[in-house]
Amino acid sequence: MLYASVDGRELRECHRTNLSTLWVDSGAHKIPGRDFVQHVHTRINCLPTAVRVSRGARRSTRDVRCRAGCQETETAAHVVQNCHRTHGGRVKRHDAVCRVIAAGLRRGGYRVEEEPVVPTREGNRKPDLVCQKDEFVKVIDAQIVSGVGSLNEAHKRKCQYYSRNEDITKLVEKYAVEPRNVEFTSCTISWRGVWSSRSQGDLLLMGLTKNLLSTLTTRALQGSHTNWSRFNKSTSTIHRSAAEREGVG
Ligand SMILES: [Zn+2]
Repeated sequence: MLYASVDGRELRECHRTNLSTLWVDSGAHKIPGRDFVQHVHTRINCLPTAVRVSRGARRSTRDVRCRAGCQETETAAHVVQNCHRTHGGRVKRHDAVCRVIAAGLRRGGYRVEEEPVVPTREGNRKPDLVCQKDEFVKVIDAQIVSGVGSLNEAHKRKCQYYSRNEDITKLVEKYAVEPRNVEFTSCTISWRGVWSSRSQGDLLLMGLTKNLLSTLTTRALQGSHTNWSRFNKSTSTIHRSAAEREGVG
């Protein structure tokens, strides 16, 4: 029922990966009660926003505009993923996810470089993690995305962003591996904690455990909830005409 509703649509890719619900299955005993409840609220999208409280009531579109002054409707997706008020929180959420992946890969014997700058003809590129083990190099970018589009497509776009840039082969010289042994992948999770099954598959193949990836699910949910509560505590506004920043991370 939930999958067919407006709020449930973004959860439709859950069936592709039980990883997205592992934190629920392992139970509240592993997650402090308040956090667990917040994760659930984020997951099922019942965070009160202007749109949510106006449902069923007659209100004009103007009333549900973002109260931080954006030209957007104040949905939870806007508040958590796009609003200027929560930009800092999105960066923190992204960086926290990267740190957990880096630590897990190092424990698995990878040499991990975080945010190395790679000059290319298209400008400097700064992948989140470049990981080497034996004669293989993996370039990983993390993204916490809207769940509206296909998560596997979001994963693919992220991989292609680097793989299509020929100058990234400069990495090869630095790491002294065969060009065909340089691969690109992503950590792609929606802000409501649903995984791209391809992203998950790649990270498991690299030796990360399901338990570790599940901590990334809850970290993403926690970060999303923090963004929402920070939005409600903040009083900063921009003029309606100001351009919106695209929020990913
Ligand atoms: Zn806003």
